[in-house]
Amino acid sequence: MRTVAIIQARMGSSRLPGKILMPIGGVPMLERTVNAARAVSGIDAVIVATTDNAQDNPVAEWCAQSGVEIFRGSETDVLDRFSGAAKQAAADVVVRLTADCPFLDPAIVAETLALHRIAKADYASNVAPPSWPDGLDCEVMTSAVLDVAAAEAIRTSDREHVTPFIRANRHRFKVVNLPCPIPGVHRLRWTVDTQEDLERAERLVGAASAFSGKGATETLRWTELLHCDMPQVGDSRAADGRNEGYRISLTADQKSPANRSPRIYKNSMGLLERAEKTIPTGAQTFSKSRYQFPVGAAPLFLTAGQGGRVWDVDGNEYVDMVNGLLCVSLGYCDPEVDAAVRAQMDLGVSFSLATELEAELSERLVDIIPAAESVRFTKNGSDATSAAVRIVRAATGRNRIISCGYHGWHDWYIGATARSLGVPEAVRDLTSVVAYNDLEAVEAVLMRYPNQIAGLIMEPANITEPDPGYLADLKELLHRHGAYLVFDEVITGFRFSLGGAQELFGVTPDLACFGKGMANGLPLSAVVGRSDLMAQFEHIFVSGTFGGEALSLAAAIAVVDKMRREPVIETINRNGGALGAAVEEVISSNGLGAVMKLKGFDPWRILMIQDQPGADAMAIKTVLISEMCQRGVLTLGSHNMSYAHSEADLRQVVQAYREVLPIIADKLARNRLVEELSVPPLVPVFKVR
Ligand code: PMP
Repeated sequence: MRTVAIIQARMGSSRLPGKILMPIGGVPMLERTVNAARAVSGIDAVIVATTDNAQDNPVAEWCAQSGVEIFRGSETDVLDRFSGAAKQAAADVVVRLTADCPFLDPAIVAETLALHRIAKADYASNVAPPSWPDGLDCEVMTSAVLDVAAAEAIRTSDREHVTPFIRANRHRFKVVNLPCPIPGVHRLRWTVDTQEDLERAERLVGAASAFSGKGATETLRWTELLHCDMPQVGDSRAADGRNEGYRISLTADQKSPANRSPRIYKNSMGLLERAEKTIPTGAQTFSKSRYQFPVGAAPLFLTAGQGGRVWDVDGNEYVDMVNGLLCVSLGYCDPEVDAAVRAQMDLGVSFSLATELEAELSERLVDIIPAAESVRFTKNGSDATSAAVRIVRAATGRNRIISCGYHGWHDWYIGATARSLGVPEAVRDLTSVVAYNDLEAVEAVLMRYPNQIAGLIMEPANITEPDPGYLADLKELLHRHGAYLVFDEVITGFRFSLGGAQELFGVTPDLACFGKGMANGLPLSAVVGRSDLMAQFEHIFVSGTFGGEALSLAAAIAVVDKMRREPVIETINRNGGALGAAVEEVISSNGLGAVMKLKGFDPWRILMIQDQPGADAMAIKTVLISEMCQRGVLTLGSHNMSYAHSEADLRQVVQAYREVLPIIADKLARNRLVEELSVPPLVPVFKVR
């Protein structure tokens, strides 16, 4: 097995031309990287891969003088350049390095190499997800997998950045990651893109050399650098500066139709067939299943997520506007949350007694949520809403509940919907459903069942703004009838405002339920509320094995702390507002104002589609979802904003709407939308039987 380090190097740099031959600590950057690569035990040869432009002749001259092998190839098709270099060097295993990372640590490269070998991986790196300081990047892959990428990758971004194709195809390739053992250092920036970076690097070399007693020309250990560049609490350096070049070329992909071969969903369909042999519906949630995503015209299975993007089993990449049905609020693989989970994993997951984490989190929730005087944790939103319903029943001695919105799968709620099969009539009869903003309807139920209503549970808002005074009047009305108000903040919590919609609207309910976004995708929900009501937990039975499961609690603590430290809510509001305004513009410029309307609130807007003559809403939604997916946007027709959505992500979403809505308008105008469907239309989950 011949292992070759290929160092990508070129003089052209928009922000700091010629940077790779500029000295740091008296040594040209490229030389630092070459020295580090040569110091890695297990690397047989080091080769510099530069372009065949005259501009890069100095790189060739430097290599000749320094006795370093060189390969010259395409400037833009870097994947082809790498594959050519690997062939020239007769490599079996390729280590991809870049010359703008002068602080490369040979020991980290050696560990990544060892991981690649021991895991029998096709690709091993320390960048997916990023957890190390930016600038220690190292990727190891077999030449075979590099050849597959070189033969098959089409997108500009895949060719320019060499390895995204491999990471996108995790269903085919075994991809592993070497996580950083020290949390919270991913924001450190040890790469050189600008004059400012160069100056910082020079200072860092000086400090780390003095600390370690090494000469400024010697290769430094990353811990020696870290000692001199410890992150401070609240340090927001470079949080999203990483991979700027990749983001730019993603935008280039979008602009170039030649790069867009039709997406196929062959593996999704194959996996659906396999899953359905052992799993009814092939998924665990209607909203993630073939009920909501058209089979053959959209993906059905994902392999990985990073930030605001996900990859499916066919290697297609998407900006994710679903975000795990709103539970991924900070983005996939958020480094702080993942570090907290990893640290907890080292201590244990589920214990035989309670842990301090429970108090740590409940104290935070009491601090930030107006209604929260005390807190109990559950796992799903449904658990939390059902527990709240049991509390108000226990506290009032009454059986009847009024419901407004969606609250989960348990009998008391789902029995009142069109999916009530399996729920006894006696239970169904106890829940009355009212429309939002309709105080009179609530009053009518209260009058119809005097002294029988325990409480009303509602989403404080979903697609509609509360009428002025509605929520406060509702609370007063319920209290007048001896009933309680429960807010189901499973979606609005940690999204509309850190303290939930109750904080945004200034109305504090008696109890409130949280879930979804509180742990960035880990399973956790909570009932919070007035201490006197919450004391019912001593008497009712709400109790579960996984109630204090520690990974989710650790994740939620990290989420709350990050949301307090960083402008998460502000950002998802601002980005959601800008996206909504842009999409509304596209709707109206395509004359589709009567077909679809964007409703709801900026962090969670929902496209409401109306039945049209000759095409019902589900048929239109089928076209929308499949055409958006074709353009790399995974959507259920809503904007489930994540803090990690980048500008490039959101530009891609708007561009997709710009291309898809004219298609829908045209099909409707010709009255051919249903006839031209390539797959059967979606059917509603709550269809009346
Ligand atoms: N309440 C609301 C408002 C919800 O949106 C949901 C989930 N969509 C639930 C409760 C139920 O949560 P879960 O699916 O986690 O049980």
